[in-house]
Amino acid sequence: MQTLQNIIGGKLVASTSPRTAPIFNPATGEQSAVLPLSTLAELDAAVAAAKLALPEWANMPPLRRARYMFKFKQLLDENIDRIAEAISAEHGKVHGDAVGEVQRGIEVVEFCCGIPQLLKGEFSRHVGPSIDTHSDRQPLGVCAGITPFNFPAMVPMWMYPVAIACGNTFILKPSEKDPSASMVIYELFREAGFPDGVLNIVHGDKEVVDGILAHPDIKAVSFVGSTPIAEYVYRTGSQHGKRVQALGGAKNHMVIMPDADMDKAVDALMGAGYGSAGERCMAVSVAVPVGEDTANRLIETIAPRVQALKIGPATDPDAEMGPLVTKQHMEKVLGYIEAGIKEGAELTVDGRGFKAQGYENGYFVGGTLFDRVTPDMTIYKEEIFGPVLSVVRSDSYEHAVKLINDHEYGNGTAIFTRDGDAARTFADQIEVGMVGVNVPIPVPVAYHSFGGWKRSIFGDHAIYGPEGVHFYTRLKTITSRWPEGIKSGAVFHFPTMN
Ligand code: NAD
Repeated sequence: MQTLQNIIGGKLVASTSPRTAPIFNPATGEQSAVLPLSTLAELDAAVAAAKLALPEWANMPPLRRARYMFKFKQLLDENIDRIAEAISAEHGKVHGDAVGEVQRGIEVVEFCCGIPQLLKGEFSRHVGPSIDTHSDRQPLGVCAGITPFNFPAMVPMWMYPVAIACGNTFILKPSEKDPSASMVIYELFREAGFPDGVLNIVHGDKEVVDGILAHPDIKAVSFVGSTPIAEYVYRTGSQHGKRVQALGGAKNHMVIMPDADMDKAVDALMGAGYGSAGERCMAVSVAVPVGEDTANRLIETIAPRVQALKIGPATDPDAEMGPLVTKQHMEKVLGYIEAGIKEGAELTVDGRGFKAQGYENGYFVGGTLFDRVTPDMTIYKEEIFGPVLSVVRSDSYEHAVKLINDHEYGNGTAIFTRDGDAARTFADQIEVGMVGVNVPIPVPVAYHSFGGWKRSIFGDHAIYGPEGVHFYTRLKTITSRWPEGIKSGAVFHFPTMN
């Protein structure tokens, strides 16, 4: 069975760690590879390689760095299916969904092709007699990224293309559940001609993460994953003096107003609730119909659609939804369904016991729908991260907004309505970072930035887009006086323009 290797200084390097973890194909339940849980010495070697590559890379004209990005983008486009297959084999998501993920990652690389424009500073002539001021954004140094299982290609690509385009070098620690997509992409990165050491990959678990957080030569850490770990990464990295952005979990609500087109709203809910088996940080996991009649129409329309979901392995072209990522995660999701029943929610569609024919050992859970969920229930408060949609009936728009604003998470939300006033007020009042109006999964395009609010993010910067460029650079402001005035003698009062 294949054991994955690290990428250090442009070379595949076998780990000498005695600790390993199995990687599974979630559709079959069979082990497909072995992952080394790398040592701190291996992390050190990767950081040393990144540090060595830094001066040349950081000092290269941005236009040249952009040319590598153009080549990288072209190779990614040409290999999109291959990358998607690597994702599906370990994550389980269906092919079209995996292609969509890669496409959104490529768009970040495309954004990075414009890095000379993005790094342009500001200039003010004549801020005082013969004095000009200009500002510049300079790279930080060696940066690191720690990524979750649910977007094994896209989330790493939210990070390293931006960091690298800005002139930094990078260490990626992929999710231990589905690391192979990053390895396929690295082959293309190398083929694009990037110098050795610009991007390094170190596989591992908490030990490597803790090593990254404490490493004196790593200047910034980007993290995406669950909220408890995001908070831990943010606190620990900050204590070690690093710049940290840590994106966490979510509980995304979709409000359905009485005037919404119910068929369109249900189409949107099906994709947003059950696509990728609900394993998306922007998945809609709570539907909030406003008014009893809206709620009844919603349940009537959506229940048969949930029952009819086509579930199967990613290799089945008709499958709309695949398995969950691991056996442990499947058991966790099944545990939430049990909790929902015990706490009194109405189980309208029961996905327990679903078996995909020929894939009986796969980690499948059928589409599940709960009605009459209330805010005190565990299935409402916690992120399930599975194909389980909760319907919370609301008697008014104000109550729907309050529900969302009171929730600890604030990643994404949506409103479905034909009323411009309701939509506009909602966008204004809602305490959530990414808002959709008749758009169920409002993931910002690559030239905006992605970030939730409240306990869905720790740190001051959203990820990728202009905020990503700010995160991976630091501002320098230079004030120059030419050619006269310097020789005219010392001035001892605080400098002003009077
Ligand atoms: P996770 O938090 O378990 O793991 C994320 C990363 O942290 C992995 O690389 C893992 O190796 C590492 N890690 C795990 N436990 C650790 C520990 N105790 N100490 C140090 N490092 C540790 O998350 P996951 O299950 O891989 O991903 C799913 C979660 O990610 C969900 O909560 C989802 O909402 C969230 N997510 C958020 C966003 C976002 O943009 N806000 C995007 C994608 C996923």
